[in-house]
Amino acid sequence: MASLALNPVSREHPWLLLHTGPGVPIVVAMKARFLIPLLALTAGLITSCARAPQTATMAPPPAPRLASAATGIDLSGMDTSVLPGDDFFAFANGTWIKNTEIPADRSAYGAGAILSELTAKRVSELIGEAARSQAAEGSETRKIGDTYTAFMDEAAIEAKGLTPLEPSLRQIAAISNPGELAQALGSSLRADVDAFNATDLYTPNIFGLWVAQDLNNPNRYSPFLLQGGLGMPDRDYYLDPSPRMAGIRARYQEHIAAVLKLSGSADPEGKASRILELERLIAQTHATRDDSGDILKGNNHWKREDFEKQAPGMNWQAFFLASRLEKQDEFVVWQPSAVIGVAALAGNQPLSTWKDYLHFRAIENASTFLSKAYVDEQFAFYGKVLSGTPKLRDRWKRAIDVTDEALGEAIGKLYVARYFPPTEKARAEAMVRNQIVAFGHRIDQLAWMTPETKARAKAKLAILKVGVGYPDKWRDYSGLEVIKGDALGNAQRASLFEYKERLKKLGGPVDRGEWVMNPQLVNAVNLPAMNALNFPAAILQPPYFDSDRPEVMDYGAAGSIIGHEISHSFDDQGALFDETGRLENWWTKEDFAHFAASAERLVKQYSAYRPFPDLSVNGRLTLGENIADVAGLAVAYDAYRLSLGGKEAPPFHGLTGDQQFFVSFAQGWRQKFREPALRQRVVVDSHAPAEYRADTVRNLDAWYPAFDVKPGQKLYLAQADRVQIW
Ligand SMILES: [Zn+2]
Repeated sequence: MASLALNPVSREHPWLLLHTGPGVPIVVAMKARFLIPLLALTAGLITSCARAPQTATMAPPPAPRLASAATGIDLSGMDTSVLPGDDFFAFANGTWIKNTEIPADRSAYGAGAILSELTAKRVSELIGEAARSQAAEGSETRKIGDTYTAFMDEAAIEAKGLTPLEPSLRQIAAISNPGELAQALGSSLRADVDAFNATDLYTPNIFGLWVAQDLNNPNRYSPFLLQGGLGMPDRDYYLDPSPRMAGIRARYQEHIAAVLKLSGSADPEGKASRILELERLIAQTHATRDDSGDILKGNNHWKREDFEKQAPGMNWQAFFLASRLEKQDEFVVWQPSAVIGVAALAGNQPLSTWKDYLHFRAIENASTFLSKAYVDEQFAFYGKVLSGTPKLRDRWKRAIDVTDEALGEAIGKLYVARYFPPTEKARAEAMVRNQIVAFGHRIDQLAWMTPETKARAKAKLAILKVGVGYPDKWRDYSGLEVIKGDALGNAQRASLFEYKERLKKLGGPVDRGEWVMNPQLVNAVNLPAMNALNFPAAILQPPYFDSDRPEVMDYGAAGSIIGHEISHSFDDQGALFDETGRLENWWTKEDFAHFAASAERLVKQYSAYRPFPDLSVNGRLTLGENIADVAGLAVAYDAYRLSLGGKEAPPFHGLTGDQQFFVSFAQGWRQKFREPALRQRVVVDSHAPAEYRADTVRNLDAWYPAFDVKPGQKLYLAQADRVQIW
């Protein structure tokens, strides 16, 4: 099976990146999510997505205007002085790009962010109503309101200073032996990572837990242990010798010292240097991003007793007892090098350094909920240095993120009741059905795939579980305690509640109807082991999906996203899972060889894109997503043609149906970045930057006649160089 792995391929599944690592830590003891708050609600999706705001040229926000029936396509945001064949992204978006400034509190901005902003505004109204409702004690509405209100009470938070964190800091100070260190590390474990569904590989805690369908036995859940413990996004930030990264490390060390100073620690500079060195040693044990994305490298089953033997240095018994996993006898160790390496460091690094590290990390992880000095210091490094964002987001926006993080599905329930009518759900489901039919036709017509593999693919397509809008069954928050006026405690309890809920799954039946995204998230995802897709309600709205405009535009925008996610079930990663979710490659060797050869051409195509003279897109890191983009666009095109039964779509302001399709697609990728954010993205994101995702069009034959694209133009590809994998 390993021989069939196209390696290293991106294993990222969300249509957009959710987190890149530390952003602004949103929830204590959960993790630092600055850049891309989990919900990406107010933050705007870090990764490009974005479909077009169909409005006139956009000045810096405040009032986002989205698609309107009057336009459907943002004609004034296009730049028709550019030849489509030279730069399709600029042709579709050039005027908007020229006239738009990235808001000061953002590292990137575009159609997805605008839609996220609108959704956030709606969510904030729902939360505000909940806060004013005086709903019954213990009800979800009351919990939503109290979580939000506690965070908004800045004066109370200011007055408390570091007091709410003192019990944790005292516990850390009391650590006096390796067993207690292991206990502290074990008790920090939270369900805050996801190896390949919502793909979130970052946790600031020493390890992260993911409870998911077992890859060898799809009828049960397993606990997956993932690496963590770093304050910066990735091992590269610690190990890359370039002057740029060295500069960031120096700033990080200053940041650590500043945080320690604020908390009244003695010798902050000395401690900062030792903490950074410990993190550097941890980073050395970390698997690379590419390896962490490789399912075949991650699926390592360890018995509990293997930990003592394979990873000496840590008191594992104390670790598992503190993490409530003492009864679990089998684990999946996603990055063995980190478990082995961290265990060794637990045994051979000074206890005092570990205590300083834990002290710093406790404050850092809680900063979002502490007084202004901590919030500002955190932003100075994570916002400004790491992302180039000049201004901290308004408190109410952060309050929404915090509330959404704690009670996401409870808010989602309110959201869909108001903003996602059954008619839109039905329309989206019809579009999904057309896409599935179109995908089935494409499988039938593939010249390179053997009949036996085609049969397996069709079987998998037949039972693909497509979730549209929201889950069939909502989750139960009755066990979550929310206390008025206790912002930090609420966040800590929410993260512990989530952890315990996930632990409860162990030993129980697998639920294929489970969602990994909230309905109010502008994103979409393929859950490979579950053979299931989630299309949250929030992405099924203008400018991606709009009942007031010609449907061909929806096929270009939302349809290409749906196609993208469907194709993941059948690509090189989808090939690893059979229809039940068992890790069993159902492709033949010949199929894989054909696939790999086409993929190599796509690696070359994307590696040639250079956002900066010294930095090119990593065609290999982004390969899986680029394949899905090509497939998604092709399937959406077929589905749109299919939906018209051979007729042409009516012209729109002089644009033909095909032109409307491709321009809607490219306007969806409308996005601008600040330089540090884009650089960070190129390093860690398995999706190509938005501009190049828009240029996917050059692989479709239909795009050429639609815009009269000719040899010699920059995006022109000879027939043989167009990559058509599906
Ligand atoms: Zn994807």
